[in-house]
Amino acid sequence: MVQFISAADSVAIAAETPWPPTDFPTTTWHLVDRAATRFGARRGVTFQLTSGPRARAETLTWAQLRDQVAQAANLFRSLGIGETDVVATVLPNCNEMVVSYFGAQAAGIVCPINPLLEAEQIAGILRETGAKVVVTLKTMPGADVAQKTAAALRDVPNVTHVIEVDLARYLPWFKRIIAGFMRPKMDVAHQAQVLDFPTALAGQGTQLAFDAPATDRVASYFHTGGTTGLPKVAQQRFSGILYNAWVGAHILFNERDVMMCPLPLFHVFGAVVVLGMATASGAELVMPTPAGYRGKGVFDNFWKLIERYRATFLITVPTAISALMQRPVNADISSLQLAISGSAALPVELYRRFEAAAGLSICEGYGMTEATCLIAVNPPRGPKKSGSVGLPVPHTQVKIVDPVTQMQCVTGEVGEICVASPGVYGGHTYTEAAKNADLYYPDRTGAPAFLRTGDLGKLDEDGYLFITGRSKDLIIRGGHNIDPAEIESALAAHPDVAFVGAIGQPDPHAGELPCAYVELVSGADVTVEALMAHAKATIHERAAVPKYIEVLPELPKTAVGKVFKPALRKLAIARVLNRAFAAEGVDASVVAVEEDRKRGLVAFIGKGPALKEAVLRDVMAKFTITWDWA
Ligand code: AMP
Repeated sequence: MVQFISAADSVAIAAETPWPPTDFPTTTWHLVDRAATRFGARRGVTFQLTSGPRARAETLTWAQLRDQVAQAANLFRSLGIGETDVVATVLPNCNEMVVSYFGAQAAGIVCPINPLLEAEQIAGILRETGAKVVVTLKTMPGADVAQKTAAALRDVPNVTHVIEVDLARYLPWFKRIIAGFMRPKMDVAHQAQVLDFPTALAGQGTQLAFDAPATDRVASYFHTGGTTGLPKVAQQRFSGILYNAWVGAHILFNERDVMMCPLPLFHVFGAVVVLGMATASGAELVMPTPAGYRGKGVFDNFWKLIERYRATFLITVPTAISALMQRPVNADISSLQLAISGSAALPVELYRRFEAAAGLSICEGYGMTEATCLIAVNPPRGPKKSGSVGLPVPHTQVKIVDPVTQMQCVTGEVGEICVASPGVYGGHTYTEAAKNADLYYPDRTGAPAFLRTGDLGKLDEDGYLFITGRSKDLIIRGGHNIDPAEIESALAAHPDVAFVGAIGQPDPHAGELPCAYVELVSGADVTVEALMAHAKATIHERAAVPKYIEVLPELPKTAVGKVFKPALRKLAIARVLNRAFAAEGVDASVVAVEEDRKRGLVAFIGKGPALKEAVLRDVMAKFTITWDWA
């Protein structure tokens, strides 16, 4: 078997095993079933509710997981879920999430929803996908997931059943009793029937009570777009999901591995890549706390958790690496072989600091929801290039296309990264057909094969892919396009800077002006003036030098650690308008900036007692900002 060490190996592996492989499952149900047959009594998925290194944990063996997945699938079918019907999960990480994810795919289509979203956004996704069944949390002290889901369901008549998971069951018995007393009461104003997860599952058999899915079809809806605006729903097929799992089992993991994965399963990195690869290879998946890296005490206990489970792979994202690096390695982590990082750019400086602090290599990879996930990764057992997202994985073709001429770029030239792979569902990436227009470059046959990622990048002479920017996220200054990545990488190279988010702030003359929000490494106290001087010295294009830099205690981030730019845009709109009001003596202020599904970002303006409305309207006429009275 060829090892994945170089670009030539990637091609050789693909030649050795044409896609689809003959000896690999074709649906996730068959993948889970195969894991039970091959690794039955071995540890499959492990979850602990709290972060302590000796805290109570529950492990499902692969055989137990398979039985519960069959029960969940039977339950969903009994509630009317057919192959094209949707079961949504509004769940944080827990073993029930894994069971629901695979069970829903066996019966129909799973739609994992981020439980951190607001009720209105959850309702939007439930409506758009037409979900019939929702699996969510029962009320818990200190968590509002149940309440938000209930509020969302008020406006979603398509949901007929809600199945509740009680995380209190993971507590020791005395804490469970206390949690029972402290459980918040909830007003339920929706019509859906509410069921209890373990009771409903117990009534079902551990063999599939219906014909297992036999052909390729859509198996999941993952929402994305959190960094650029309102979530979009992308659909993935069994074949794409199995492809990701196959890559992992083929080039990375085996049943002796243990993956420490504090990443959410409502995102493709956790669900499709990590859980999929674990199930294909028999490696154990460990999930510390429902909120993963955001869970209380997870960073402080992290190295001890690695020791507890003898983890071999650490699955991570740049923001988590930055936090981990600030804690001493206070446990025996000799079991660890490698850290795998993805989902956002890993600053080169951070890469170096982490390798020095933890004595561990980081293998950076690149994927996106629209490609089912995996696109490229540095070879785990071959040379890793810092700053590069690695080599396209076997059966994935990366083409760099000049956005203007639509010609393929030569080696080293920057263009839009376009991807063809078994994970790309040509012509059908998003559930909303209109969003698929202009999303592909055709292959030689004219089929819409190469997905336009909206990322800019280049391939080097060894075939390594470098992401250099984002065409989907440009700052447009007076008709001139500025790539925020240029500003971000320049500022991130400053030793006191941990993370940067560059956006366009509204401007009456230029439309947008570049501005940057910065999070410092802990203990640093560099001034904005010093950062501005650094920006001027290191950003070559004058127009791209930010007009404004602000240091925030922490940048807003998504659940997988990407800087959440919509929140920065809201800050910038409020700041720019309030300044304009002050300058013109307008007695008004921005009370909130909110995202509206149809209108985009809307500024809500509060009137002061001395407001002259006509003057305010004159000021607002200079901007292209949508606004309303608060
Ligand atoms: P999502 O599907 O929401 O996870 O977003 C996918 C996007 O995340 C990609 O299109 C990239 O813009 C970005 N991304 C993923 N991995 C990396 C990486 N290693 N470096 C830089 N950007 C990344």
